[in-house]
Amino acid sequence: MKEVFEKVTKIFLEDIILCDSCLGRLFGLRGYGLRNDERGYAIKTLLLMELYRVGEVVTNREIIKALASSGFKPAQDLALIVNVAFEEKECYICNGLTKKYSDLANQMVELTKEYEFKTFQIGCRIPPEIISREEDLWRLFSLHDAESIKNEITREVGKIFSTITGKEYDPRKPEMTIILDLEKNDMELIPAHLFVCGRYRKLARGLPQNPWLYEDSRIMYKTSIEELITEPLIVAANARDAKFHAAGREDIDALTLGNGRPFVVELRHPKKRTLDLQALEAEINDRAKGLVEVRDLHFCNSSMVSRLKKLAEIARKTYRVRVHFREPIDESKLEGLREQFKGVIVRQRTPIRVLHRRADKVRKKVVYDVKARKINEKIVEFVITCQGGLYVKEFIHGDQGRTKPSISEYLGSDIEKIELEIINIEEK
Ligand SMILES: [Zn+2]
Repeated sequence: MKEVFEKVTKIFLEDIILCDSCLGRLFGLRGYGLRNDERGYAIKTLLLMELYRVGEVVTNREIIKALASSGFKPAQDLALIVNVAFEEKECYICNGLTKKYSDLANQMVELTKEYEFKTFQIGCRIPPEIISREEDLWRLFSLHDAESIKNEITREVGKIFSTITGKEYDPRKPEMTIILDLEKNDMELIPAHLFVCGRYRKLARGLPQNPWLYEDSRIMYKTSIEELITEPLIVAANARDAKFHAAGREDIDALTLGNGRPFVVELRHPKKRTLDLQALEAEINDRAKGLVEVRDLHFCNSSMVSRLKKLAEIARKTYRVRVHFREPIDESKLEGLREQFKGVIVRQRTPIRVLHRRADKVRKKVVYDVKARKINEKIVEFVITCQGGLYVKEFIHGDQGRTKPSISEYLGSDIEKIELEIINIEEK
């Protein structure tokens, strides 16, 4: 303790006035289970006990003055008795900030009222002059056990906030992050995104996956899968907006049937986190009027988004494709087709139709199985099971030789029209 006394005495003799918290924090790593203001008050108390014994002449009048100026009541009483003049001053480091923890916590309570959350964390921006004054002291007086004011503020304000609201401080998985900007005297709320996942079936051709920004003759509706699914969720969660993630992109004029395509909706800045997903499922389906149908809505976390992206690449997909050929097809070739394409690796250069927005590269995808059923002379229905990420239309028409092998090349027939449906997406 001698070392602590010596250092504190030196600080006070420099006429550096410190509040209980800031003094205690300079030795913050010493002693367990104490708040910094308790630690600071204890140091001041012991210092006073060292300095003054009843009946003795007071020699250290400067220290008594400094202690009294810091607002330490026992020193103020003593100063009156021994005739030491003093003036109460704000703390050299924090300038009164440590007295405002309750106020800050109460402002947080007010500001977060409309938000639903169980766990929180606090971030803090501190005026740089406070930090440099504090760090100067650490250097000047060789204080190696000090704690930073930033730590103290987040912890102490967090404790008060938690006591008032019953919410739990959890920096690992906070549902709400509260930023105290003490530089600008401002607070910012960052509620964690809320993730809802499920599967959708696309039941209408001409419906884009995402809101479409430009004219396209294939578009039949003034809406998109994304809008139909996200809008009721945004309203229910009172969110600012949403990001829509699906396992793979949707062809405008293809259908997605079977068990549907997995998706995640990332609701940003939600005020509500408890949603009746069953009711929302019904509402989405009701409003979508048969264009889209969702199922199996449930909550998930952010890791699901990257899982979806991976899933899109590896999941086995099964398509039903109706192909109209220009000429009657060669029956014998059609019979050999299944054998020909079983387990074949297809090499695809980026399709011409997406070259304007994607880099030109070669990708290899596996086609597991192709079943063909002749509908008439020129129309064949194929059921194609392949690896996710295969450009199926190109696998059929060959994309001017950019996809090899292709069904068109094998059958030696040009193609007039392709109608595509996804009938199964298999998760692995
Ligand atoms: Zn202070």
